[in-house]
Amino acid sequence: MNRRINTMPATYAIGIDVGGSSLKCGVVTHTGEIVQDFLKPLDGARTEQEVIDLIAEAIRQCAGAVDGNVAGAGIGFPGIVDDNRVIGGADNLPGFEGLPLGEILKKQTGFDIVIDNDANMMGLGELVFGSGKGCSDIVFLTVGTGIGGAVVINGELYGGYKNRGAELGHMMLQHNGAPCTCGAKGCFEAYASVTALVNNYRQISKDTGRGVNGRYIVEQYRLHNAAAIRAMHRHFDYMAAGIAGLVNIFSPQKVVIGGGISEAGSFYIGEIERRVRNTAMPAALAHTTIAAAMLGNQAGLLGCTAKALKDHLIIDTRG
Ligand SMILES: [Zn+2]
Repeated sequence: MNRRINTMPATYAIGIDVGGSSLKCGVVTHTGEIVQDFLKPLDGARTEQEVIDLIAEAIRQCAGAVDGNVAGAGIGFPGIVDDNRVIGGADNLPGFEGLPLGEILKKQTGFDIVIDNDANMMGLGELVFGSGKGCSDIVFLTVGTGIGGAVVINGELYGGYKNRGAELGHMMLQHNGAPCTCGAKGCFEAYASVTALVNNYRQISKDTGRGVNGRYIVEQYRLHNAAAIRAMHRHFDYMAAGIAGLVNIFSPQKVVIGGGISEAGSFYIGEIERRVRNTAMPAALAHTTIAAAMLGNQAGLLGCTAKALKDHLIIDTRG
């Protein structure tokens, strides 16, 4: 992010957060105000071209909703993206591998397009408009079915060489441990995701009911249900183990935790922070705080627009 002060009237950017079943679309001003947002279902799309056509249509729809300067469109894509090209990893959106999606969409819409991995966009959203505002170095984690993450160093997303890394959920915590969706064993995600929490709770409680999910377990935890307490403590322990490792490597100003479970209450961050304090290296942790994400499910959309607005932002991320 740069620090140029823009005194022009509002500049807009379009954000499209591509999910498995819908596009989350919106228009945001350079100060982070969402002036338009809507969901566009992907049900009807059978081929990648049909999905691309829907994205292009959404971009035109967004552009039509505002009267003013549109800086471009940012797209959050669930997979590995390098230089506006989809490299892979989008299991629920087959056919995109190797596609120069940015170039295709620019041709179809006329707008400048920037594309990045969806978790990276969420992290950028939190950095620019949310919990990481004012920071230059953060680690972002989104905890849900799996664990996604983003690393911001010196105000810029860091994805490793050709943007293939920062797969924080697949950091190994346990040699030859629990199987992970990536095919390996012992990943952070296999122990600390909500899926892992639910599986663990079911095992301890023998509760096989369909209603068991993260929210339910948190409710039971608050009601002092012994199985829920055990499962949550294990979740906190693994979250802290992963975060302590990340703190030792990156020594960020903030570790921002997103995903539905991070909204469980202040105890959630507190329990994790206490454990991290006991395990991370004191010098690495000296300037680190752990905080809940602020933008909820708007983080991706806001990150997409932040990326498209890069040169127009008036927010100083090096505060
Ligand atoms: Zn994995």
